[in-house]
Amino acid sequence: MSGPAVLKNMTYGELEQFVLSLGQKKFRATQIFRRMYEGCADFDEITELPLSMRQQLQETAVLHAVSLKERQVSSDGTRKYLFEIAGGDTVESVYMRYKYGSSVCVSSQAGCRMGCAFCASGINGLNRNLTAGEIVDQITAVARDTGSRIGHVVVMGTGEPFDNYDELIRALRIMHDSRGLGIGARNITVSTCGLTDRIYDFAKDMPQVGLAVSLHAPDDEIRRQLMPVARSCSMDKLLHVCRDYTEITHRRITFEYALISGVNDRAQDAEKLAARLRGMLCHVNLIPLNTVNENEFQSSAREKAGAFAEILEKRGIQVTVRRQLGADISAACGQLRLNRES
Ligand code: SAH
Repeated sequence: MSGPAVLKNMTYGELEQFVLSLGQKKFRATQIFRRMYEGCADFDEITELPLSMRQQLQETAVLHAVSLKERQVSSDGTRKYLFEIAGGDTVESVYMRYKYGSSVCVSSQAGCRMGCAFCASGINGLNRNLTAGEIVDQITAVARDTGSRIGHVVVMGTGEPFDNYDELIRALRIMHDSRGLGIGARNITVSTCGLTDRIYDFAKDMPQVGLAVSLHAPDDEIRRQLMPVARSCSMDKLLHVCRDYTEITHRRITFEYALISGVNDRAQDAEKLAARLRGMLCHVNLIPLNTVNENEFQSSAREKAGAFAEILEKRGIQVTVRRQLGADISAACGQLRLNRES
């Protein structure tokens, strides 16, 4: 193996094997796994370990997979982070405080190749997939910086998580493990632009983890203008797969819908959307669009969002208008990273 072992890439079982390979006792893995997810910054902080073992770990392994590069703090407590990963690329994470506890939004890729027209993350394409350790370490780094226990995780940062499926699943297993971070599966949500084969895989592999699907349109014509992925998969097909998903998992699906002025926010769009979603086990999350300098899309006026929500509600579709946190810092999704790229 080349280079030091990145411990946060390892599941608990793999860490046990690693500890054994160092000639140490298995139970050391319990101590390391617990302490590294409590946020230990250095092997020397894991004082349960004999000094010789700490030295051995310094020589063979690393605790961290991401390092803090920049942080912005909003007046409402929201924090936006830019982390550096191996190779020099950067990824964004966001910390949010809600009534029910603290939540972190993590990235799954450096860049993105889905190319949604309104999104800043894909403007320069995909640089590389994140490793499981890099996904998980965003949570630990944020927890350490804020001094808070993270109860909820959303995989809604830069990247298409289902385009990096294996590392995503590994990361979910690691963050869920109660010997470490112990984040409840039901407190984790993964968002996809709609890669249908992977939705089936996800229903099978992670039936307890929440799924959000980015819809952003009431029909194929509008969706294809906004999301290239929609050119190879119709909304009928996507919604059929979503129905299968709810049947397999019995879990309500969240549809994300960013309201874009004059594009997808008319009353007739809401009517059309309501008709298509009728009878589905779902919930619509209306998102005020974050403006991105690189495109001309504008967010719908607040009254428009209210009227849109009202139509859905009247038609029996559960809907919320997402509250905007961190408005004073929040460059749009992917914007902080984009602005810092040379
Ligand atoms: N690739 C995944 C997850 C990443 S983004 C997906 O497409 O779902 C998380 C959500 O933010 C998605 O619904 C995405 O469409 C949305 N989003 C991207 N850019 C946005 C912007 N400028 N304003 C509002 N929402 C945006």
